[in-house]
Amino acid sequence: MKWQDFEFSIDAMANGNQYPLNAENQTWDWAASRIAHGYGSGTIRTGWLQKAPGLMSVATYFLGRTQRGLLDGSGFVIYQPPAEAPQVMSFALCRHEPVAGANAKPGIGWRPAKCRLCDLDISVDSGG
Ligand SMILES: [Zn+2]
Repeated sequence: MKWQDFEFSIDAMANGNQYPLNAENQTWDWAASRIAHGYGSGTIRTGWLQKAPGLMSVATYFLGRTQRGLLDGSGFVIYQPPAEAPQVMSFALCRHEPVAGANAKPGIGWRPAKCRLCDLDISVDSGG
């Protein structure tokens, strides 16, 4: 999957038409810590999760972004199946494999990179 398809895929998940890729159950502490740190702020999607064929759960998706503001294809979803306790799980549309750019300057925190699999720009500038 290329990064340009992330938005389409996230729409499909939030409509209950596609199960999240690389889904892993997570704890409430795991989710609460990320929410406390502002993860997904501005990129929250409400909708549905199809937990099993025909079993729709209300769901809210917290979506990750790159430093440049593009959806990075990862995130987590809090969902509640009918008559069950709410649950949380993470997902990743791509397990990014960074390829370092040619003009990296790690000394000042500049680490240009693209993902070998989805071609997303995952450069990090932590300098300041
Ligand atoms: Zn990737």
